[in-house]
Amino acid sequence: MTDFSNTRQQFHLPEGLVYLDGNSLGPMPKTALAAAKRVIADEWGEMLIGGWNKADWMSLPMRLGEKIGRLIGAPAGSVTTGDTLSIKVYQALASALELNPGRKTVLSDNGNFPTDLYMAEGLLKSLGEDYRLKVVDPEAVADHFDDSVAVVMLTEVDYRTGRMHDMAAITRKAHDAGAVMIWDLAHSAGAVPVDLTAANADFAVGCTYKYLNGGPGAPAFIYVRPDLADRVRPALSGWLGHEAPFAFDLDYRPGAGVERMRVGTPPIIQMSILEAALEVWDGVDMADIRARSIELSQRFIELVEAGTDKAVLASPRDPQARGSQVSFRFSEGYAAMQALIASNVVGDFRAPDIMRFGFCPLYNSVEEVEQAAGILCEIVETGAWDRPEFRKRQAVT
Ligand SMILES: *Cc1c(COP(=O)(O)O)cnc(C)c1O
Repeated sequence: MTDFSNTRQQFHLPEGLVYLDGNSLGPMPKTALAAAKRVIADEWGEMLIGGWNKADWMSLPMRLGEKIGRLIGAPAGSVTTGDTLSIKVYQALASALELNPGRKTVLSDNGNFPTDLYMAEGLLKSLGEDYRLKVVDPEAVADHFDDSVAVVMLTEVDYRTGRMHDMAAITRKAHDAGAVMIWDLAHSAGAVPVDLTAANADFAVGCTYKYLNGGPGAPAFIYVRPDLADRVRPALSGWLGHEAPFAFDLDYRPGAGVERMRVGTPPIIQMSILEAALEVWDGVDMADIRARSIELSQRFIELVEAGTDKAVLASPRDPQARGSQVSFRFSEGYAAMQALIASNVVGDFRAPDIMRFGFCPLYNSVEEVEQAAGILCEIVETGAWDRPEFRKRQAVT
């Protein structure tokens, strides 16, 4: 059984703050500071260029991939890290399309995070007029599988509502229809159990600054199914994805397996912090995370619904159909969220009217959830949100 009092102690959380926004940016693991100091002072400072060998910076992207792989059901050597998620989406999609050369449609849904759709649009435009991005309702995705669909590209957990796709069932149907399947695990990795191997996913991508607590700007990850990894052509054929980067050949030859999805120089400082953050997961069982996450989210829904009918549940009521977040619609959601933050309860807001709360069993307790629900109800019921300072929009919501 995972010891959640132990995992909580491993995070720095400002005194008195109820942090329900780990789905956007995870809090700082205490070891991050020491890791940053080590990589900056001891490695960069003392070793300089020698750090690539002496501190083994070069294998860091794959070492991180191993640790992430355990949380998403990916076998050893099938995940690497680097760049941002937008870049990894582009890479996965470009390679996936080439696996299905006769078809020109990419199918996604309107619950996807916009950058995934933007990256697809950009790539398809470069590929030519006959390529097309088809965006349908999440519930209707499987109705659109036909022989024009080259790639199905979905985010498992909807960033706004937490609605969760059935990964195994959709992947099976996509394959039956002859399509290649890409899963974005941005709101899944570290949030819900994922088994890429059992689901037989072709590609998966995700970020590490949300539930994996790697810090702002932490690198993304990419998974390629092992039997495909030596076949796929990387569109972003950078030198560190080359078979022999230090041969400095003028011709590109892809590296072994998923290593070919590396692009350029890895962000070593950020990656070292992520490595420390991933240590928190040692001894953590994703089944325990899921059970506690459901307990927290159910308690929150129960208390908010008992306390107000002005905020309306936007997430699926069935916990099995939800990731690790709960959203409520409230017409003045932006101002209400600002009022909540002023009361030391941090969630976030997604336009037009969604108040979003993430539940992270590593550090969130039932007491915190109860406190947050109480304050939310009070703000919504009393109109405490209705003040100019709460209505003023900031750049990041
Ligand atoms: C958070 C998130 C992103 C962010 O992409 P970056 O390139 O890391 O900024 C992309 N896609 C999804 C589905 C996300 O949830």
